[in-house]
Formats: sequence, structure tokens, C-alpha cells
Amino acid sequence: MGQIRVLDQNMINMIAAGEVIERPASVVKELVENSIDAGATKITVTVEDGGRKLISITDNGCGMDADDLAQAFEPHTTSKIKASSDLLGISTLGFRGEALASIASIAQVRVVSRTKDSTGANCVEIDCGNKSGLSPCSADYGTTIQVRDIFYKLPARRKFLKTANTEMGHITEQFTRIALANENLDLTLIRNGKELYRLSDKDDLRRRITELFPMSSSDISENLIEAESGEKGLHVHTLMGKPLISRTNNRFQYVFLNGRFIRDKFISHAIKEAYRGLLEPGRFPVVFLFIKMRFEDYDVNVHPTKIEVRFYNSNLVHSQILGALREKLLGTNLEMPGRLPEMQYGESTLRHSPPVRDHRIADAMAEFFRKHRPVQMQQQLGFRPSAPGKVHAVSREKTAQYDKKYLQIHDSFIVAQTEDGFVIIDQHALHERIIYEDLCRRIRKNKLQSQRLLIPESFEVTVSGAEALKTNAELTDKLGIELVPFGPRTMAVQAFPTLLSGVQPLDFIQDLIDLLDRKEAGLDAERLLDEVLNMAACKAAIKAGQKLTESEIEQLLADRQNAESASRCPHGRPTTIKFSIGDLEKQFKRT
Ligand code: ADP
Ligand code: MG
Repeated sequence: MGQIRVLDQNMINMIAAGEVIERPASVVKELVENSIDAGATKITVTVEDGGRKLISITDNGCGMDADDLAQAFEPHTTSKIKASSDLLGISTLGFRGEALASIASIAQVRVVSRTKDSTGANCVEIDCGNKSGLSPCSADYGTTIQVRDIFYKLPARRKFLKTANTEMGHITEQFTRIALANENLDLTLIRNGKELYRLSDKDDLRRRITELFPMSSSDISENLIEAESGEKGLHVHTLMGKPLISRTNNRFQYVFLNGRFIRDKFISHAIKEAYRGLLEPGRFPVVFLFIKMRFEDYDVNVHPTKIEVRFYNSNLVHSQILGALREKLLGTNLEMPGRLPEMQYGESTLRHSPPVRDHRIADAMAEFFRKHRPVQMQQQLGFRPSAPGKVHAVSREKTAQYDKKYLQIHDSFIVAQTEDGFVIIDQHALHERIIYEDLCRRIRKNKLQSQRLLIPESFEVTVSGAEALKTNAELTDKLGIELVPFGPRTMAVQAFPTLLSGVQPLDFIQDLIDLLDRKEAGLDAERLLDEVLNMAACKAAIKAGQKLTESEIEQLLADRQNAESASRCPHGRPTTIKFSIGDLEKQFKRT
């Protein structure tokens, strides 16, 4: 007798649930999405024991009448699509008609729902697929769905649930995504009877971000740059974190497509590219990206949890997002604000004193400094007294050296006065950026100018090295490097770029071969060229520990003004840290 059986419907639902409902957070996501699709403006999520004991969602949406309520928990039932052609332009969050059936097959579920124009509500209960009859009850319009003891008949799945805290973390993340995508919703999250979030529909996006990320809010919401673009049926609105609030992972990249949180490799790549050279390797930007496009221009029917989509014109999406973000980032001053050290005096005693005493001591100290310091300082440093609140002018005769308004320290950093404070510049990093931009500009127009070496310099080359140089002959030509074979395993450099005159040709070629060898696989020509220019800039730039003449420093400061994004070196490290006079005045208790 044959072994193959048709599975009963509940088994089918349980198996489907395996795909859609991974953990309590998936239940929250599916149910809140249903509430949004039902037109709710106010949604309350209540969770107990990380969602393992109870998940309850209440909305003020359109509700379900008795017929729909009886139908909604059957497999493959939906009100959102009717014909296969509807699949070509899905405007709702749900459409697969499997969430409610899946949830009801793996937990105890109770639903109460009432449509706006009916006088009474209806209730239905389902215990792991066993449905009760409908019973009338009283309730406000809208829908409440309670889900208890998830996976309680599936010990293997239940065992995979993590601690209440971890599951709550996942739920909070789902809630955060929904809250970011739906500014216009009143949203509340209650955990074990305590309100975690109450978000008002009056909040704007920045306010919402502040409320959703309370620990890191001050640095996140204060360091976001806004950009908007709309072309070719694609509207992009973004709040981008400045490099100084970058993270070690990409958890803070929130991408929404028509209100749906998505993960997409093209978009992630565009974001990464937009920040190229502005972030150190291994750092990820904070980005909130909202995309609006025609529903017909992408397919959401790709993944059971609908977190992936397929764009019909992914190149357009990539290039437009990259363009919008990059343009804004390059046009923004991204200098790192310096952090002033804590004041040293009496810090350890102050920490343990009661707050009132803290203030009194601090006030007395400030008073002391106010009275005594300016006189001594003026004598020592030749400051001329001037009106309070104004920046002190420097006396010409006594301190001619300060007139330059810059200073090289430890042969590595330059301290320079600016209009409203001063900056500390990493001389190597800044010079590297300047040369890099110069190289990019020139090479975009033409190949680099080169000069012939008086005596060609020869070098030994491995078979793979020679191969790498041969494959990239166009690149070396563009750089203005002329190479000729000199023997079976020897080559010679005949000409070398003028701009890199300070660099040892052989040293450069060796590193170039290594780079070409390493990067052979999977780098497009543009990226490869970029890496080579990075390397060239690094080699040609003045080094840390190199004493600079006044004119060299002045040149560097002048070039800094003209650089496109002088605040970061090509590898993304900061070149400049700035301090404002306001910070100094605060620190010295002048204000
Ligand atoms: P889908 O969302 O893919 O349509 P679901 O299984 O999630 O499938 O829901 C089935 C149907 O139940 C929905 O199409 C909708 O008509 C109805 N429904 C679900 N939740 C609600 C709700 N909160 N308010 C009103 N109707 C709902
Ligand atoms: Mg749904």
C-alpha cells in the first residue's frame, strides 16, 4: 500500500505557519499590518512575557462583520486581492491570506470585531485550529485579536523561543519599523502592564526617532541630514546620520518602500557607496530611507514575510538613491565636533557630594576663575582686555607668532584658528584627501600627466604579477605609468605620473601589483581605479611626523578650503576636529 497521504488542513496551516510565524514578533508584525490595512488610525499592542503568554492587538479599523469573521481564519482567505492581475500592483501590506490561519493553528486565539455601522460585535475563539462558533458580544468598533500561549502544542517550536527579554527585543524592533513607516498613526506598546511607547500621530519623524531610540536619541536625532529627490516616478526622502554617529552594524538602516520595511541588497549597496570615503571600514551609517514608487514597478510576492521585493528597474533605484544621498552628503559640512575634556578640578570629590553642594562648589570655583584668571592670562599671553563676550584680540608686538593663526604640533597636527573657534587637522589625512580629489578630477578628464625617468627603473615580476599588469594595461596607462618588458621576468618603469613625483616608482608599482592581484576578482573598473587612487594619495601625502614649512602649512590650509569633502580622508577617517569658541567659553565658565 502506498505511503503518501494528503495532509489535513490543520497540518498544512501549521507548516505554513513555520514560514510566516517564526516567533512572537512575527505575530505582532502580521496583526499590526492587518490593522493598518483595515484603515486603523490608532493601534495598541499589549505583550506579556515577551509575547509567549499573550499578544493582544486592538485597532479602530474597519472591523469585520459576522461573515468575514467566520471566514478570516480559513486558509488562503483575503479581502485584498481578487484576481491574479491584482498581484501586479499590491497596495496593501498583506495579500497572501495566510497570516490569520497560520497564527490560529499554533496558539489560542480570541477575536472580537465590529464594523463601524453595526450595533454589536462578534467574537470567535480558535484553539490551535479548532474554531468555536461565532457569538455576539459588545465592543467598540474595530478589532481586537488576542493570541495566547504561542506554539504550546508544538514543543519543538516553543523550545526555540528565547528569553522573554530577547523576544521582547524582536517585538520592539517590529514595532519600531511600523512606527517609523507610519508617522500618522497613534501607536502604543504595553509590556507586562507598563507602557513602553506611546507615539502620537501629531509627532513628526524626528520626534518619533527621538522617542523610539531613547538611549541614543540625542546623538541620533541631532545628527541627521535630510534629503529629498523625486525623478522618474521614484520619490526618495531620507534622514541620514552624519558619519560621527556611525555604528558597528547595519541595524540602524531602515529602508521603507511605500510604507513597508524592506531589506534589499541594491539599496544597501547604494547607501554604502553614498558614504564611501566618509566612513572608516567596518562602520555602518545610520539611515532612515523612505521610498515611494508605483506599486506596479516592483513585486512583493517574493518572500513569505514580504521583507524582500523585486524591483523591475533596480538600476534606476540604485542610481537615484545613491545620487540623492551622495550629493547631500558631499554638500554638507561633516567636520567632527571636538569633545572638550571634563574639567579636572575636584571632580572625584564632587561626584560623591550631594547635588546642592556640587553646585555651590562649582559656582565658587567659577567665581574664583572669573576674578583671578583673566588678569594673569593677559599678562602671560599678551591678551589685550576687550569687551566681555567678544573674542580676545591678539597683541601684535608681543606675539607675532600667533598672527599666523596656525601652529604645527608634534610635526603631525595643525591647529588653526577659524571664524568661530579653532580646528585641529591631521596633516596626513587632510593632504591625502586633497591629493585624492586632485587625482580624481584630473583622471576624469584625461590620463594623468607623466614624466620620463632619466634612467628606467627595472624590477622583477612574478608570472601572476606580470599577468595582472597586462590585464590592467588600460589602468596603468591612465595613471601615466609606462612599463616595458626588460627580460623574461623583469620589467622597467619608463615614465611615472608627475603628481606622484615624491613617491618611489618601484615601491608604488609593487603595491599596485599586490592590489591588482588581490582585487582581480569582482571589482569593477571604477572601484579598482578608486582604490588605486586612494593608495596613490596615501603614498604621496605628507606623513605624520614631517615638519612643515610655513608656506606648506598655508598651502594645505588653502587647499582645504577648495576640497570637496575635506572633513574625511579617502578611507573615511576624520581629517579635522573642530572646537567652537562657545564650547571654550562654557568650559572656562565665561558664560
Ligand atoms: P491578508 O492580510 O494577507 O489578507 P490575513 O490572514 O492576515 O491575510 O487576514 C485575512 C483577512 O482578514 C484580511 O484580508 C482582512 O480582510 C481580514 N482582517 C484581518 N485582520 C483584520 C483587522 N484587524 N481588521 C479588519 N479586517 C481584518
Ligand atoms: Mg495580513
